[in-house]
Amino acid sequence: MSKKLYNMLVNYKDAKPGEPHWWEENWLDCSPEEIIQEFNNTLLPNERARKLIDYEILEGENKPHTWRKTNLVTILRSGMQYDTYRCKECGATGKRFGLGGNIVLDKKYKKQIYCKE
Ligand SMILES: [Zn+2]
Repeated sequence: MSKKLYNMLVNYKDAKPGEPHWWEENWLDCSPEEIIQEFNNTLLPNERARKLIDYEILEGENKPHTWRKTNLVTILRSGMQYDTYRCKECGATGKRFGLGGNIVLDKKYKKQIYCKE
């Protein structure tokens, strides 16, 4: 997993009513749940266990695909010329029609606009 900047809403596990949540920004290469668990597992005597209320990803989510052309010769089919591509990171596939156009994701990967890890 590559690092992402998480904005985490946390509170104490034993928070009293009215004790407010707070936001913390952290670059993590694991999930926010895991880092809270890790924190709780290694508490110092003066620290209180925490719980994760919510989180959002601020940076690092929208990683583009790393396209590699998978055909040697441009394909000509039904009057259309195209090249096929596969992302070497996540395996998504797509086609580029004509020269210099964008790579259009294949139907199966339509929702995968960004690369997933
Ligand atoms: Zn990808």
